[in-house]
Amino acid sequence: MRTSKFFISTLREAPSDAEIVSHKLMLRSGLIKRLAGGIYTWMPVGLRVLRKIESIIRQEMDLAGAIELSMPAVQPAELWQESGRWEKYGPELLRLKDRHQRDFVIGPTHEEVITDVVRKEVKSYRQLPLHFYQVQMKFRDEIRPRFGVMRGREFLMKDGYSFHASFEDLQREYRNMFETYTRIFTRLGLKFRAVTADTGSIGGTGSHEFHVLADSGEDALAYCPDSDYAANVELAEAIAPSEPRSSASQTMKKISTPGKTRCEDVAALLSIPVISMVKAIAIMCQPPDADSAQFALLLLRGDHDLNEVKTQKIVGEFRFARDDEIVEALGCKPGYIGPVGIESIPVFADRSVATMSDFVCGANEEGFHLGGVNFGRDLPEPLAVADLRNVVAGDTSPDGKGKLELCRGIEVGHIFQLRTKYAEALKCVFLDESGQSQAMEMGCYGIGVTRIVGAAIEQNHDDRGIHFPPAIAPFEVCIVPMGYAKSQSVKLAADELYISLKAAGVDVLLDDRNERPGVLFAEMELIGIPHRIVVGDRGLVEGKLEYKGRTDTEPTMVPIAEIGAYLKARLCEESP
Ligand code: ATP
Ligand code: MG
Repeated sequence: MRTSKFFISTLREAPSDAEIVSHKLMLRSGLIKRLAGGIYTWMPVGLRVLRKIESIIRQEMDLAGAIELSMPAVQPAELWQESGRWEKYGPELLRLKDRHQRDFVIGPTHEEVITDVVRKEVKSYRQLPLHFYQVQMKFRDEIRPRFGVMRGREFLMKDGYSFHASFEDLQREYRNMFETYTRIFTRLGLKFRAVTADTGSIGGTGSHEFHVLADSGEDALAYCPDSDYAANVELAEAIAPSEPRSSASQTMKKISTPGKTRCEDVAALLSIPVISMVKAIAIMCQPPDADSAQFALLLLRGDHDLNEVKTQKIVGEFRFARDDEIVEALGCKPGYIGPVGIESIPVFADRSVATMSDFVCGANEEGFHLGGVNFGRDLPEPLAVADLRNVVAGDTSPDGKGKLELCRGIEVGHIFQLRTKYAEALKCVFLDESGQSQAMEMGCYGIGVTRIVGAAIEQNHDDRGIHFPPAIAPFEVCIVPMGYAKSQSVKLAADELYISLKAAGVDVLLDDRNERPGVLFAEMELIGIPHRIVVGDRGLVEGKLEYKGRTDTEPTMVPIAEIGAYLKARLCEESP
């Protein structure tokens, strides 16, 4: 490609609403242009990156035995009513009506459609297993579209769905996809980690997320450097302390703590470590057998944070209690609430709290806390003891093989064992070997293709711009002539090099614009082309060209006759 026949449209400054570096750089380098919140045009340079990612995904999915098809974006509401998601999906689902007032949705995902295809096409176990995939635009009306393409409303996804005659066969395909995703993200040149909710064995929980590691990631991940344990903090188990509760050594006493509502402040006032504090969180929960919402207290150690996902599994759907509900239940303002003297209120304690003795907690009286508090003496044992908190760095890994560390990640892929959820709802059945009708076992496998571009940039940038992993760069090599319009010998040498590299199958961009070399250098670096060759009169006199890798500190002079071989070696070096 010649720049003069292409379209590059960079910006000197990123728009001020871009918060994270990848969003800024994608706008500055003109990979994308914003049309509306979370909706972007992929400009020619950006589209090349996207297509390269897609191509690697397609190659690996095809190799893994999946079959590509393409499903419609617009889907009839009836299918969503059949699966029950018309009601459940909520406002993220974009609904619309056609001219006959019939309801449709713009697909946020395609379980319903693919299950409809398969239930109509597949009747016998002999036709199974099947794995269909597509690379297709999704629409989700995200409550907070942000970070550019990272959390867009319209975004490109690779979504695959597999159908099986048995759970064992689903597990086989799940492992196949785990390995396929590992190959895909390795080939894309990304630093990533697969995370799960259990001890890292595939198939345990039936779900793995693949995360690109980056400080700006929305997800907190816990991993054990001494084993393969890795899990989203939402799910990572905080195991119970190994030491039993020590016996009480203090008597309970009321302590004046005016104006101190946070554990850290109370601990500082009393000169005690915050780990000897217990904090109470008031919630309204809906136990499955209760008619109305119930007030309850959750107890956490002073330095720990509540994990809402785990808590919901224990107490059911819940929300934080309002101040007026707290005052009504406990007769006290938030900030001083605690578990003593409230026998009629259910109390759920985190595992770390259950082993504490002589602790400090709110006194249910404004301006006061209680010290020397002990379960079984000053208050009853909690109604339930459970894992309610987020793990923290230094916690014992759930597999017992070391201590946990924390990092942040961007979820770029998700594999999931759906089992028979959709097959049962949509009556997607087959006849087994004995002629019995059975619901199919299903798996689903997603990759956020557009999100990968943002994630790759989060991992690969510097103050001059993007340095794309070579496998997904918009071009592999750029040729920058110093004076293409002015020097006949530069023009000739640049054209010749361009033609020979193209003939050798190199994805090369010749920057033949009549601009100052500084401008061309800056732009090629901004859009992240990994290899650059400068053609200048001075080098040509010596029969040399100047090569520079995007992250090299110094250029290298290479004899013209050797440039092809030199480049080839550099390109091979980098392909994983
Ligand atoms: P998230 O927790 O980030 O909302 P999700 O659980 O909704 O993700 P899936 O339904 O599993 O995501 O979708 C598969 C993949 O699609 C995700 O792993 C992610 O990479 C990508 N994806 C999901 N939502 C978006 C979005 N709004 N913008 C860009 N990519 C997305
Ligand atoms: Mg989502």
